[in-house]
Amino acid sequence: MQMTQELPTSEHFDLHQLAEGVYAAIAIEGGAAFSNAGVVNLGGRTLIFDTFENPKAAVDLRAAAEQLTGRPASYVVISHAHPDHWMGNQVFADHACIITTHASREQMLPFVKEIRDLQENPSELVNAIRENRERLEMETDERKRASLRVSIARSQHDLDALPSLELRFPDQTFEGRLALHGTRRMAELITQGKGHTASDCYLVLPADKVAFIGDLGFFASQPFMVYCDPQAWVAQLDGMGQWDIETFVPGHGPLGTKTDLALQKRYIQVLDELVARVIQAGGAVEDALLQLLPSPFDAWLTGGMNRFEANVRSAYKRLSGQ
Ligand SMILES: [Zn+2]
Repeated sequence: MQMTQELPTSEHFDLHQLAEGVYAAIAIEGGAAFSNAGVVNLGGRTLIFDTFENPKAAVDLRAAAEQLTGRPASYVVISHAHPDHWMGNQVFADHACIITTHASREQMLPFVKEIRDLQENPSELVNAIRENRERLEMETDERKRASLRVSIARSQHDLDALPSLELRFPDQTFEGRLALHGTRRMAELITQGKGHTASDCYLVLPADKVAFIGDLGFFASQPFMVYCDPQAWVAQLDGMGQWDIETFVPGHGPLGTKTDLALQKRYIQVLDELVARVIQAGGAVEDALLQLLPSPFDAWLTGGMNRFEANVRSAYKRLSGQ
C-alpha cells in the first residue's frame, strides 16, 4: 500500500506534491503569499523557486521546505523583478545563494528607495486600505467587491510586514541557461528575455516533466500585462507548448497543463483585439474599459477587475501610440 505523505500546512499557501521531492506552493487568496512558489529537493541541496510577496508567508515556506527536504535551502531562484515574487528573500538569505537574471537584478535595485520611503511614511498604504474599505461598502458589483477584498487583505499584510522588511538582492545572475545538479535530479534554469517583464526566467525539471514558469503563467486569472511585450510573451508560450512537460506551475492561479498555456496566449490576443477594435472605432480608453471579455475570460474578472483595468489602459496606450 502506498503511504501518502502528510504535507505541511500554512494559512498562506497550499502545498502540492508534483513528484518525489518536488512541491508547488499555491497562494491562498487573502493570505500573505500573493504569488506561487516551489520547493525542489535536488538531492544534497534544496532549491526554492520565488519567495512570495511577504516574509510572513516566506517563513512558512522555509519551515515547510526544511520539513520536506531535511535541510535549509541552498538556492533561491527568483523568476522576475516584480516584488510580489521576492520580498520574502530575507527569510532565506542566511543559507541560500539567490539567483536571477542579470536584467531582473538591475530592475530590483530601485525598490530600496521605494521601501525605505514607505517605511518612513506608510500613509500611502494606510490610505489605500481606508479608501478601499469605503469603496467596498458602496460597491454592488460582486466582481469588483472581490477585487477590493483582495486588495485590502494584500495591503494589510504588506503594512504588517513593513517595519521588519529588509530587501535582499540576488547573489548570482545569469543569462541563457544554468544547470543545477543534485544527486537526485537536475534543474535547468532558462531565460529567453522579454515576456511578462523585460526579463523572465523559469525552472524546468525535465525528468519529472514539471516546469515552474513564474508570471509567464497566470492560470484561471487575469494576467498582469502592464510591463509586458505581448508578442514575446506569446512566442514563449508557443515554445512551452512544444516541451515534453506535463505540469506547469504558474506565478498566479492553480496548477495547469498545456491547455492553460493556450488559454493564457488567447487572453493576451483577445485583450489586444478588444482594445484595437475600440481604437479603430474612434473610442476612448473609457469605452475600452466598458467592453466585456468573452468566455472563459469573463469568469477570470472576479477578483481581477483592477488587473483588467490596468491591462486595458496599457494596451490602449501601446496600440494607439499615445
Ligand atoms: Zn509579475
